[in-house]
Amino acid sequence: MDMTFPDFAPGCVWLVGAGPGDPGLLTLLALHALKTADHVVHDALVDPRIVAMAARKAVIEPMGKRGGTASPRQGDINTRLLELARQGKRVLRLKGGDPFVFGRGAEEALALADAGIPFRVVPGVTAGVGGLAYAGIPTTARDCNSSIAFVTGHGQDGEVPAGFDWDGLARGAQVLVFYMALRQLDKVVERLLAAGRKPDEPVAIVSKAATPHQTVLESTLSQIVADLTAQPMEPPAMLVVGGVVALRARLDWWNPG
Ligand code: SAH
Repeated sequence: MDMTFPDFAPGCVWLVGAGPGDPGLLTLLALHALKTADHVVHDALVDPRIVAMAARKAVIEPMGKRGGTASPRQGDINTRLLELARQGKRVLRLKGGDPFVFGRGAEEALALADAGIPFRVVPGVTAGVGGLAYAGIPTTARDCNSSIAFVTGHGQDGEVPAGFDWDGLARGAQVLVFYMALRQLDKVVERLLAAGRKPDEPVAIVSKAATPHQTVLESTLSQIVADLTAQPMEPPAMLVVGGVVALRARLDWWNPG
């Protein structure tokens, strides 16, 4: 391939997005980093097929947060990245989706910046865009929405963030994509209905998007909680609310099997 890649220097950390699942969604820079890194510190969300693409010399260290199970504290992850960089390693910090979308990549980058460690950020395809596309749901469509909001279903303590402006959110964007939505689904739905979103509005839960295990549950805002009880879905999953979900009837192009 006729392309010159930036130097991945020893003592440097690359904070790289691995996309939602399908290894084909990696950027060329992400692939270059995988082939060059001495040490790969990866999130629980990163698809194992992608981790397996690292150079044979690379040390692979799983280190990521995962809702519901024991996971390392963010401070420990930051400390580990600094330690490896100071040992002169080419450190690849590999995160699911895009590193700066709800992945605490900003906190990691700030820790590196504060410590004076050279770093680079390689954006990835975020689940709320690429994962939806694999589910046949466009993030925008001309006749449906001119705005979209990406929202986290829980804040630092695992709860729906206190003081969150639900009325503003419900009025402010025609399509809403909730990351980390499963555990708080009933609360999220309750607040959206209370804030005036229509009970018959189309919604979908998209689980394990862009992986061989992708599943999608289509419903309406008032029905989704009952439907999810009848057909449980596994994390990682997103909740999508809005008219674009209805287009899936014609755009469901991908067959994960
Ligand atoms: N940085 C990631 C998001 C990290 S937060 C990104 O840009 O995609 C973790 C949440 O992302 C999960 O709880 C889920 O809501 C969503 N997510 C990530 N990968 C996903 C996938 N393959 N399918 C569905 N949701 C996914």
